[in-house]
Amino acid sequence: MLRAAGWAAPYVLMPYISLMVTCGLKPRTIMALSVDAGAQASTPLALSVLAQAVYLDNYIGGGSYFPKGGGQMLAAGFAEVIRSHGGIIRTNSEVEKILIEGGKVTGVRLEHGEIIKATTVVSDADIIRTYTDLVGLEHLSRTMQARVKTWRMSHPLINGYFGIEQDISATPNSNYFAIPNWDDARSLFALARMSRSVVHGRGHTDGAAWARQFAARQPMFLQSSTRRDPTNVHSAPAGNAAIEVQTIAPYDPKIWGFDGYDVASGEYRKDKAYREIKKIVIDGMLDRIEQVYPGASSKVKWSELASPASQQRFVGNTGGAPFGLEGTPDQAGPLRPGTRTSIDGLFLVGTDTAWGPGTEGAMISGVHAAAAILGRDLPGEIHAGAVIADRTRLTTWDPDFDPLNACRGFGTAAPAPDEVLLRCTGSPHGASDPSSVGCVGGLPSRRGRR
Ligand SMILES: Cc1cc2nc3c(=O)[nH]c(=O)nc-3n(C[C@H](O)[C@H](O)[C@H](O)COP(=O)(O)OP(=O)(O)OC[C@H]3O[C@@H](n4cnc5c(N)ncnc54)[C@H](O)[C@@H]3O)c2cc1C
Repeated sequence: MLRAAGWAAPYVLMPYISLMVTCGLKPRTIMALSVDAGAQASTPLALSVLAQAVYLDNYIGGGSYFPKGGGQMLAAGFAEVIRSHGGIIRTNSEVEKILIEGGKVTGVRLEHGEIIKATTVVSDADIIRTYTDLVGLEHLSRTMQARVKTWRMSHPLINGYFGIEQDISATPNSNYFAIPNWDDARSLFALARMSRSVVHGRGHTDGAAWARQFAARQPMFLQSSTRRDPTNVHSAPAGNAAIEVQTIAPYDPKIWGFDGYDVASGEYRKDKAYREIKKIVIDGMLDRIEQVYPGASSKVKWSELASPASQQRFVGNTGGAPFGLEGTPDQAGPLRPGTRTSIDGLFLVGTDTAWGPGTEGAMISGVHAAAAILGRDLPGEIHAGAVIADRTRLTTWDPDFDPLNACRGFGTAAPAPDEVLLRCTGSPHGASDPSSVGCVGGLPSRRGRR
């Protein structure tokens, strides 16, 4: 990629905006080419050229894909492989502490005090929380402590879900970026001011006032899972459509009206200011829906908005950031953390690692973690065509298989004493060592309701 970049290669670790400005692009063009930085939960001022180039190469060069049956099929598929190969999955089982003795992992303690012993622990929890809360900074070297403190998360990605009584099957099967108007593209300064005020929320003390600006000015990403996969009977009843609207937003709890609340309790949802701000943002999303699907905004039967607080409450993301560490020049590609850590037996996976951000990066990081634990070249084996799982153990899913329901039945009960959390035969920690590999995270825990 670097060779193909030619004269632009030195820009690889610079912010994306710098390349667009050097190319002499007009502010309008810059705005149009900037909106999809939101797909990585970032802005062109922060996102590195490398991160954007990889994204464009992936999405435009390779094309974007959508799992048949919806995104939940991925989780259901992984769960099926784990369980059919002897693994045990426990949801609603929050890890409170990763236990460490003499620089080595000894297991995890769950929130209600249960201890699961393991010589290997793989953490998919947010990396800052993994190190600060689950591990404890006292177990890290001073250099590593300093590194953890300087990490910056990407923006929260807020998501509106709309059930529309309208048949959109004749519309193009496309992703859309809806730009409300071009007023903020008068100049580069106007674009920068808009980013500071609307996307970062700077200078706002009144949440409703910010939300009105956001609703009027913020470009948003739209897609319909019903249109993407008309065969998915769980998406929407026939003749109706599910439409999702996403965009980046500030995290600031004061702006959103959930400051002062313990987010985990969910109490903030009753706050009048929080509800009012959500309503204004939803109305802005409906305006963007109207731009793409004329007439649809008046046929809404159901709407729901996941705010940064929802992200934090459901998956424990620092600052409600589902894309993990921001893809800034100093946190992009190989400069992101790898899977091994300085603590013996502790491995990291997920969107924060070198293979992130996003779903694909998170999945690839899992392969690399498994390779490091097993001491095998799993990426090489897979590229050479090896199938690691035993396909004959997998069940065939009916056409109306419900992946969400399938992921709901795992429960929280502790395994029987002779069972292990995840068997890893052939591993340096597995075959010769009867203990287990524990995984923090991976499937949605149902800690609460939005
Ligand atoms: C609405 C939305 C749309 C998206 N669309 C796309 C897309 O189209 N393409 C794309 O590539 N990416 C997309 N993303 C981003 C993508 O979903 C994330 O980057 C990806 O899921 C991150 O995977 P992960 O395994 O690192 O973390 P997560 O999926 O966040 O998984 C972490 C898991 O750890 C659990 N956990 C956290 N703390 C603990 C603890 N202490 N104990 C036990 N469990 C814990 C959480 O409950 C969670 O289940 C989207 C995100 C959102 C919110």
